[in-house]
Formats: sequence, C-alpha cells, structure tokens
Amino acid sequence: MAKEPTILVSACLLGVNCDYKGGNRLNQKVLDFVKDKNFIPVCPEIYGGQSTPRPGAEINGGQGDRVLIGEVKVVEPDGTDVSGEFIKGAQEVLQIAKLTGATLAILKAKSPSCGHGKTYDGNFSRTLVEGNGVLAALLLQNGIKVMTEEDL
Ligand code: SF4
Repeated sequence: MAKEPTILVSACLLGVNCDYKGGNRLNQKVLDFVKDKNFIPVCPEIYGGQSTPRPGAEINGGQGDRVLIGEVKVVEPDGTDVSGEFIKGAQEVLQIAKLTGATLAILKAKSPSCGHGKTYDGNFSRTLVEGNGVLAALLLQNGIKVMTEEDL
C-alpha cells in the first residue's frame, strides 16, 4: 500500500507551548482535521535557535520571499535583526518536509514564519498586508501546498 503523504502542522496549533509568548494556539479544527492523518508538528522559530518566550518579530513589508533573498529583514520591536534565525528555521522545516515527503502544510495564520496570504507589515501596529511568512514562502517555492487554520 502506498504511504500516506505527511502533513506539516504548526506545533502551536496542536497545543505545543512554542509561541513567542510561551503559550500555544491550540485549534480544535486543526486537531480534528489531522487526527486520522499522518502529521508532524513543526516550529521553525524554535528550529532557528530562538527561545520561548521571545520578542514578537515582524517582517519589514510583510513578505517572507523577500527575506529569503536578503531584500528585507525580520526584526524584533527593538530593531534586532532575526532574519538569519527565521531563514535557518524555515530551511530545517523544509528538510523535514523532504525527509517525510510532505505535500501539505497547515500553518498558523499571520505569523512572520508561518503566515500565508497575510502577515503584519513590520511596524508593530497590528497592520496586515499581503504576504507569506518566511517558512510559508520557502515551502511554496518547493511545491508544498500551504493552508492556515483559517482555511479549514
Ligand atoms: Fe507557531 Fe509557527 Fe510561531 Fe512556531 S513559528 S510558534 S509554529 S506560528
């Protein structure tokens, strides 16, 4: 029998306390969707070497694909550049995707790593713009379908 494709899931959506405040974003719809499927929790910000809790970061301009090519940075509120950590974390998740043959990722909406379609604009004013987080952008570039919990 063919192996079922793996689904990557933002670990915070599954109740893992890895978000920047040290909490989680447990989502029942996500749990219900994956419970009978082959899934792997992932947290790119932790894989990038960041701690929990940590300062909430945003992408200058909100577009993760521009971070990946070095055009813009991911910054913390005090201006600290964490682009390297975000890129490393995304690359580690891509490695997991390749190892497991993942074809779909269900990621946390609006996050500078995991967001898909909309992210915050980098001014720390809760303003959303069109764009993907750094991980979402990298997965899309590698042919992996990305959804958020809001799409379920
Ligand atoms: Fe959740 Fe993604 Fe943020 Fe990790 S990086 S806490 S998985 S939104």
